[in-house]
Amino acid sequence: MSEYWNDVIGGFKSLLVGTNITTREFFKPVVTEQYPYSVPVIPPNFRGHIELIKNEETGAPNCIVCGMCQRACPSGCISLKGEKPEGAKKKVLTNYILDFTTCSLCGSCVESCNFNAIKFSRDYNQASTRKEDYIFDLLKRLEEQG
Ligand code: SF4
Ligand code: SF4
Repeated sequence: MSEYWNDVIGGFKSLLVGTNITTREFFKPVVTEQYPYSVPVIPPNFRGHIELIKNEETGAPNCIVCGMCQRACPSGCISLKGEKPEGAKKKVLTNYILDFTTCSLCGSCVESCNFNAIKFSRDYNQASTRKEDYIFDLLKRLEEQG
């Protein structure tokens, strides 16, 4: 058979295969998310940046300023400060900064905290071209949550 007819048959086969795939995909359920117009379902084990946990009774952060999370972080993302108010027995958290630009979401900080004071947020919507927008003041964020 001439090369011409080989090309015609090969092209026709290719057309049939392509049409078959297109038809099959056309009848499958639509999986495309219309983000940002529809909010995606966030899986329960999703890891957003860490955030502080508030004590439901006192309204204050559960953090006792032990510094374990800071020491456990392999990327040095966490810096925190606390002070002991006059007459108080325990330190109070005064500053908790997360540098999310270098956080690998490894979870060491959350695992190292024995006081249920930090957790992964469900904040999936982080987008900015400015590095400063990824330096989070977690204490301020907690206060803003009310
Ligand atoms: S390990 Fe927990 S309690 Fe200790 S400083 Fe970190 S967040 Fe606070
Ligand atoms: S998740 Fe890992 S890298 Fe991120 S702040 Fe915690 S310990 Fe550091």
